Amino acid sequence: MSKLIIGIDIGGTAIKIGLITEDGDIKNKWEIPTNTDDNGTYIIKETWDSIQEKLTRFNIEEESLLGIGIGVPGFTDVESGYIYEAVNIGWKDIDLLSQFQNISNLPVFVANDANIAALGENWKGAGQQAKHLIAVTLGTGIGGGIIVNGSLLNGVNGTAGEIGHITVDPNGHLCNCGRKGCFETISSATGIVRQALTQIDKYPESRLAKHYQQVGEITAKDIFDLANKGDSICEQIIHHTADVIGYVISNLAITINPEKILIGGGVSKAGEKFIGLIEGSFKKYSLPRVSDICEVKVAQLGNDAGMIGAAYLVKENL
Ligand SMILES: [Zn+2]
Repeated sequence: MSKLIIGIDIGGTAIKIGLITEDGDIKNKWEIPTNTDDNGTYIIKETWDSIQEKLTRFNIEEESLLGIGIGVPGFTDVESGYIYEAVNIGWKDIDLLSQFQNISNLPVFVANDANIAALGENWKGAGQQAKHLIAVTLGTGIGGGIIVNGSLLNGVNGTAGEIGHITVDPNGHLCNCGRKGCFETISSATGIVRQALTQIDKYPESRLAKHYQQVGEITAKDIFDLANKGDSICEQIIHHTADVIGYVISNLAITINPEKILIGGGVSKAGEKFIGLIEGSFKKYSLPRVSDICEVKVAQLGNDAGMIGAAYLVKENL
């Protein structure tokens, strides 16, 4: 009988857990809230408790489990499974691999969350098992995963593919990483909102400013909606955002010469028009030999990409 893999995707607000077949199909999935109390001390135990409860409920014997893959939102060393820092969940210097191995008695593999999302999309989603691929996740921040020769690019200490921290504007806004003008200060949902707030200050009579005054806040989705209604300030913000994304991916593409670039995360749901703008900008900044062979696509798996990729990590390593 085919074995099951446990795929875990730890996020800032929820931990997504899936029981996944060796073919990458989700048999069961559920989530638990991320308990960030006391610097995330309880996360490992609560996750394992939840898994045990489900295994009992579904009558799944531990012998039928192949292993556990875990994605973590932070700096992760893939070989040792050590987490240097995961700010959102409060972790610092956590030996996740051995702790989870001790509690579960199963083989455990660990990687960065954006990297496992790239693995998941490439296995069962829009990547269609490409050998060379770049995945960009546009959310509150920007994550990335790079696959070369069919394998995830980790780098010497697990920091390869931290696309969100590519410097785009050396005099730009301060980033969470402490430096200025990183890619994610412009093209993440947070960056898009910040661009809008700057425009609201500049043009207090604009439709955007009036919307902000009425509602009291502004989201990236509001800015996309206003742009779709023809608001020129919001259109400019969206064009600039897409232009910067195209600029960054064209530079990445010349480094690895990928066959596919996948755009995922909440911001990618803005629609085909936005993806078209990114593609146009990508072509504008690329060597034609690089862009002609490369397809820009929207990621398909949504929130399941992480758990599926975490399962792939186990399959690939066992
Ligand atoms: Zn940064």
